[in-house]
Amino acid sequence: MPTAIYPGTFDPITYGHIDIAVRASKIFTKVVAVVATNPAKNPVFSMEERVVLAREALKDVPQITVVGYSGLIVNCVKEYGASAIIRGLRAMSDVDYEFQMAYTNRNMLTSAETVFLMPSAEYAYLNSTLVKQIARHGGDIGGFVPEFVKNKLLGKVVC
Ligand code: ADP
Repeated sequence: MPTAIYPGTFDPITYGHIDIAVRASKIFTKVVAVVATNPAKNPVFSMEERVVLAREALKDVPQITVVGYSGLIVNCVKEYGASAIIRGLRAMSDVDYEFQMAYTNRNMLTSAETVFLMPSAEYAYLNSTLVKQIARHGGDIGGFVPEFVKNKLLGKVVC
């Protein structure tokens, strides 16, 4: 199987993202996790910080590399010679947005298919926004992100 890219904001990377990236690495020879700029989301971490955290989180999986990218995902797909775009689907609530994006990407580039993967059930409710909210309110996020991510996040949100 060829190369897939796995784009996202990863602000910060969670066990849900890691679960999807690892699943993708069992299907594709090479997976490029693409940390994208997303001004709409007003990220807590800079792109460089998100790349560092994602690299650390995924360092034990040799097929996965992590890069930062500002620009259209379809251009990134072409740059890496990928034939698939991985996205995670947690619940029906993800479907509208994900389908919109998948159809738009297909419209711009027909040579790549969007492939949706489901996480383990234990991560099906997990998202970075929730993790940041819990951290801001002093809750325990140890079950949602690796230790080094937790420490970095607490450094950011707890003043
Ligand atoms: P984006 O801004 O692209 O939605 P995210 O970092 O929020 O960036 O998510 C990147 C991808 O990872 C998306 O496809 C999202 O659905 C998926 N994802 C995020 N959290 C989870 C999770 N807990 N389980 C499965 N997929 C997830």
